[in-house]
Amino acid sequence: MQVVVVGAGVVGLMAAHALSHRGHAVEVLTHEDPLATTSATAGASFKPRLVDDSPLLRPLLVASRDVLVGWTSSGFATTLGIRRHRHAVVTTNGPFEGDWLDLVDDVKRSVPGPGAGLSGVAAPGDTAAVAFTTWFFDVDEVLPALLGHLQGDHAVVPRHRVVSRLEEVVDLGEVVVNATGVAASRLVGDPDVVAVRGTVVRVRSAAVADWDPDRSMSRHGSYVYPRRDGVLVGGTADWGAHDRTPDGGLARRLVDAAVHLAPGLADVRDAELEPMVGLRPWRRGGVRVERGTDLAGTPVIHAYGHGGAGWTLAPGTAERVADLVATLP
Ligand SMILES: Cc1cc2nc3c(=O)[nH]c(=O)nc-3n(C[C@H](O)[C@H](O)[C@H](O)COP(=O)(O)OP(=O)(O)OC[C@H]3O[C@@H](n4cnc5c(N)ncnc54)[C@H](O)[C@@H]3O)c2cc1C
Repeated sequence: MQVVVVGAGVVGLMAAHALSHRGHAVEVLTHEDPLATTSATAGASFKPRLVDDSPLLRPLLVASRDVLVGWTSSGFATTLGIRRHRHAVVTTNGPFEGDWLDLVDDVKRSVPGPGAGLSGVAAPGDTAAVAFTTWFFDVDEVLPALLGHLQGDHAVVPRHRVVSRLEEVVDLGEVVVNATGVAASRLVGDPDVVAVRGTVVRVRSAAVADWDPDRSMSRHGSYVYPRRDGVLVGGTADWGAHDRTPDGGLARRLVDAAVHLAPGLADVRDAELEPMVGLRPWRRGGVRVERGTDLAGTPVIHAYGHGGAGWTLAPGTAERVADLVATLP
């Protein structure tokens, strides 16, 4: 089938990959370069956060985990820039809960303190900690690698195009996939989508160049992830905010707040801070992955509303999108 995917964030590109893998001809249309999307600002690890619960959430999580297990054992994960990784979370307001922890490995819970194996993360006043082995998505690598695979496969190179209404693109294919993230709110008039703005700071500095590339940490809303030439520091969650203008003052405050996680951050200069802003597509009622109303006789499949869990859920979402396309006559 000829499929038009609108959106080249992680959801659109993984859907395009799954579809082309199943033999479909795919065209990707995007307003932004993939490395300028919200997806490119993420941490990112397999760890659902800021996504509304729904009956679809658990099946998507399990499907994503299964895809990632397969990609890991075949070596394809490494080709894409996805690797196994140790993440530690410390909380100050009781135990860290997550009904998805059965989907990650080697979960160790502990009360922070000497001997808990969390040196550098926990501090006096912390009440609980959990560390686990999960997947890390090196977003700077994965988005271009997905594009590379699309170009080498059946798909067309992503085309820059601002789509005002999905009706505009129905003539380009036999089915349209809507993977437009937070823009779906306007594009399909979905009132349940809310932007949750996140600011993160990319720090390229020798002062943090020794950060372990296989480790990330989070405490008190601050987090530190590995990045080439340094680290990524986060983060904020501003509900209903759409302005993506980076704020240098906020960047410095985020970095200062994360010094307890990465002491080298105390020595970085303002010129080494690169704030980035993304809009998490949170949706009341949870992620939407379903066939919508046909437009001029063309089936439309929606794939948006992944909130703060798009990287976690994209592999499973992509399989579901491909399954939905397979049901079309
Ligand atoms: C700071 C931060 C940290 C995060 N950390 C994690 C994490 O650790 N783990 C995790 O799982 N998730 C994380 N997330 C969430 C994750 O990044 C998002 O859920 C994910 O990026 C959503 O992907 P998407 O493809 O739906 O949307 P986007 O990345 O926003 O992509 C949307 C695409 O649609 C295109 N588009 C939109 N409108 C139009 C239009 N009218 N015409 C043409 N094209 C259009 C855009 O140009 C873009 O290509 C984080 C997010 C943020 C902001």
